[in-house]
Amino acid sequence: MTQPPPNAKPLVLEIKNVTCAYEAGRPAIEDVSFAVQKGEIICLLGPSGCGKTTTLRVIAGFESVSSGEIILNENAVATVDRHVPPEQRHVGMVFQEYALFPHLTVEKNVGFGLTHVSANDRQRQIDKMLALTGLSDLADRYPHSLSGGQQQRVALARALAPQPVMLLLDEPFSNLGPDMTYHMRRELRQLLKKLRTSAILVTHDHVEAFAMADTVAVLNHGKLEQFASPETLYNHPASPFVAKFVGQADFIPGTIHDSTIVTELGEWPLPQPYQGPRDVLVMIRPDDVRIEKSETGCGIIESREFRGSDVLYGIRLNTGELVHGSEPSPRSFPIKTRVKLNVTATHTVVFDRPAHDS
Ligand code: ATP
Repeated sequence: MTQPPPNAKPLVLEIKNVTCAYEAGRPAIEDVSFAVQKGEIICLLGPSGCGKTTTLRVIAGFESVSSGEIILNENAVATVDRHVPPEQRHVGMVFQEYALFPHLTVEKNVGFGLTHVSANDRQRQIDKMLALTGLSDLADRYPHSLSGGQQQRVALARALAPQPVMLLLDEPFSNLGPDMTYHMRRELRQLLKKLRTSAILVTHDHVEAFAMADTVAVLNHGKLEQFASPETLYNHPASPFVAKFVGQADFIPGTIHDSTIVTELGEWPLPQPYQGPRDVLVMIRPDDVRIEKSETGCGIIESREFRGSDVLYGIRLNTGELVHGSEPSPRSFPIKTRVKLNVTATHTVVFDRPAHDS
């Protein structure tokens, strides 16, 4: 048996080859495997319908697995033959719409799940959660009199009060404005780290996943495409789908000669031996591309998107390929400027070229 590395933290959750189908023969998630360490924050990231909420629901126990196994805190809570009900899994949930009890005060909402403790311990835990989430002054208010951000804090305090094995959050910021979302992401991350609570958060926004997660699980059509840190996803995506989902990415044709990739924008050493065919696609990120005005350049600026600190340019190459480059805002190039490109492929990422592209 493989021994874990000596500094590995204990695992809170293991999902092993889990498939879940609402209708026979049409799995919503298929053969999904990943593990969550104590205190780790995971984001489930992917487009609409890829299976993010389903993954959360099988972990919480609202859906059964069709195959595979879920181990929570060292207990097998879901197999084909065994289904531990949600209330026995000790998992906290925060939903999009917060689901607060309208007839209960903030304090009573937060204390709702604290049923098996003495009155003193209950009050102590409520006070602690109210203080941690900055709600102490609002303890007697009712949900309808709170802002969206305050309601979300109540939902978080209520979910965390019973000290769950882990916290599951389904698009928790989707009802908040951009400013509030930015603050709540930081607050939530700090709170989870302070309490050393593991969490899985569903989002379709890679910016949110990058801001919140230690590790991101990218799902596509019910399958796990990659499970890695935000940096690894961006710099070493496992597939063209992941490359495009976590940021702007272009792919230009290249050919491998010995240990070098030759493309129309330059030649780069291969980072490691490549087993696939010689005709490949090379990923180019806008931050790899430096733009210079040149009458004899290889492309023309076709589009321009001001993004604040930088401008994203779309450059049509003489060969017809489109690549994007970003430059700091003060360096401005009008549309139709002929330019040359200096590409530094800091992380040379290569994929097989589909047969019809060769
Ligand atoms: P979104 O970002 O839009 O919320 P998601 O990634 O969370 O999507 P899921 O809600 O997990 O995706 O859905 C995965 C697949 O399962 C989809 O094809 C969806 O239509 C299907 N599905 C979800 N819930 C049910 C259900 N109760 N009955 C039948 N099919 C369902």
